[in-house]
Amino acid sequence: MKTIGLLGGMSWESTTTYYTLINEEVHRRLGGHHSAKLCLYSVDFDEIEQLQHLGDWSKTAEILGEAAEGIERCGADFLLICTNTMHKIAPEIEARLHIPLVHIADATAEAVVSKGVKTVGILGTKFTMEEDFYKGRLEDKFGLKVLIPDESDRNLVHKVIYDELCLGRIEDASRNEYLRIIDALQQKGAEGVILGCTEIALLVKQEHTRVPLFDTTKLHAMKAVELALSD
Ligand code: GLU
Repeated sequence: MKTIGLLGGMSWESTTTYYTLINEEVHRRLGGHHSAKLCLYSVDFDEIEQLQHLGDWSKTAEILGEAAEGIERCGADFLLICTNTMHKIAPEIEARLHIPLVHIADATAEAVVSKGVKTVGILGTKFTMEEDFYKGRLEDKFGLKVLIPDESDRNLVHKVIYDELCLGRIEDASRNEYLRIIDALQQKGAEGVILGCTEIALLVKQEHTRVPLFDTTKLHAMKAVELALSD
């Protein structure tokens, strides 16, 4: 079994989901007392969150780059950055490593494409919904058409992520707003919606809607297990 590297803590609420899903899947596949071999480096999210909103991405790249090097030294065979947003600086992190980075958008897009979906909505932080590092990758590398909510809904989705989900608060009222926004994306033509923030599945689950959902946390975690158990 290969050793999985996890760069987490963004937020720790979703990193626990990664840890659980990866171990459950390794156990499901191998049985016995098997569990995942992994190295986890969990950052202090307060520092990262402040730098994001100040726009100081190069400082975040320094912090996460150093953490990623630590994960490589720890013996990881490949690295997952356990947040969609921080893939904004994935190229800078990748450049400091000798081990491969498993990109969350690639793991997600493979699932979207394999379901035959061509037009997909995305929910996430404003950075993920509005900038090119994520949407652009889905469009250019995988030929997907990506739809985002309108501006006031993007603000709402972003605020719920930082003010509630990253702090472990799960509110019914916010779930209802997210479901309304998912429906609106479907009405605009989305055949499915990417939960493009690793905390969203704590709030909205497939059982809450008939619109097909693509949970990036789960898809990324399952990709890690697949790689860890492959030759
Ligand atoms: N975990 C979130 C994401 O997947 C947001 C937290 C962050 O800004 O990293 O984008």
